[in-house]
Amino acid sequence: MNFDLNEEQLAVQKMVRDFVANEITPNAKEWDIKEEFPMDLWKKMGDLGIIGTSIPEEYEGSGMDFISHAIVAEELGYGCSSMRGTYSVNISLVAKTILKWGTEEQIKKYVPRIATGEIFGCYGLTEPDSGSDAASMKSTAEQDGDYYILNGNKMWITHSDVSEVSLIFAKTDKDAGARGITCFLVEKGTPGFTPQPIHEKIGLKAQNTGEINMDNVRVHKDTILGPVGRGFAVAMSALDNARFTVAAGCVGTAQAALDIAKEYARERVQFGKPIATKQLVQQLIANAALEIEMGRLLVYRAGFLKNKDVRNTRETCMAKYFCGEMVNRVTYDMMQVLGGYSFSGEYPLERMYRDSRINTLYEGTSQIQQLIIGNAELEMPAF
Ligand SMILES: Cc1cc2nc3c(=O)[nH]c(=O)nc-3n(C[C@H](O)[C@H](O)[C@H](O)COP(=O)(O)OP(=O)(O)OC[C@H]3O[C@@H](n4cnc5c(N)ncnc54)[C@H](O)[C@@H]3O)c2cc1C
Repeated sequence: MNFDLNEEQLAVQKMVRDFVANEITPNAKEWDIKEEFPMDLWKKMGDLGIIGTSIPEEYEGSGMDFISHAIVAEELGYGCSSMRGTYSVNISLVAKTILKWGTEEQIKKYVPRIATGEIFGCYGLTEPDSGSDAASMKSTAEQDGDYYILNGNKMWITHSDVSEVSLIFAKTDKDAGARGITCFLVEKGTPGFTPQPIHEKIGLKAQNTGEINMDNVRVHKDTILGPVGRGFAVAMSALDNARFTVAAGCVGTAQAALDIAKEYARERVQFGKPIATKQLVQQLIANAALEIEMGRLLVYRAGFLKNKDVRNTRETCMAKYFCGEMVNRVTYDMMQVLGGYSFSGEYPLERMYRDSRINTLYEGTSQIQQLIIGNAELEMPAF
């Protein structure tokens, strides 16, 4: 067993860490307040190869392994969770899913442009009445010769309003449950396809989230991603990649919160000494350090399996479940170290705390991760 990062992974870590320190951390507060995503910076990241990390070079990616992919997510999460989320959705949910299931034509049409930051993609699975139980979706796709007519609504879709291409899951067979779902690649501007942003979110304010209304949206059968009726498998394979990226991002955000708290604790004096000398403060710091290390090991273990291209759903869910809960505990506790000062925008902890809340909710709630892990252990599904 080898716990060392290799030379390439160390180089990626240094490059992205420097980029985040110079370009992301100093600006994240402003993006959050203005609810603005920095498109220019995103394109710059595309030029540097930071977006298409684990996309093959032949499709304009950097051809890196999954550990490097996780390192990039971790470093982005250190600076700004909205930025990390944008990386997760574009690469893990969309580009890698098109790569896995798409025809050569579909891959060439979308993946290079996503990998270089030229366009955004989104993943439309959730609906107003179906979240955890995605297979109960109501959206339909009725065949009409060489075309399909899509109708229905999607809810909570990251980038719905700003994407050139949307992975849309809909029922081609209403009576076949999960086996009746098909995935379509729907382009922006297709008549009847109307995305709308959702405002007043608690966190991830710099990242676009929205709804999609589909009213007789006519798409050609060539837009189908993967086989007809295999959309649920397409959706779950995307989540296997995205949960990994979310988990890595959580490790980065938790690490940032710990670093801020350590620096503060060394300087803040109460009862005549730095609070860093107080045992109960050290307990908060020690527990955070331990939890971050545990999370990082779970992420790297899942990445190790992904590099070997072996089944890793159990390990990825463990990483996502643990890290999603862990970053909430750590940001909460690190606010405790800063006391009242953590409660204002003077320190980025309040944003990190708000942004962290999503990680137990999306890409499958913590309960759903537990049920997947339980199923893997017991070989008896709870669904
Ligand atoms: C900011 C944001 C961005 C998002 N981005 C996307 C996106 O890009 N694409 C997309 O498709 N979706 C996206 N989502 C949706 C997200 O994935 C869902 O919110 C999530 O899957 C949970 O579904 P739900 O909100 O409908 O909750 P529900 O499924 O209604 O769950 C409510 C509660 O019931 C629990 N529960 C449900 N079933 C069970 C069970 N069998 N056993 C035990 N407990 C259970 C859940 O764990 C949860 O605590 C996003 C959501 C948000 C908030």
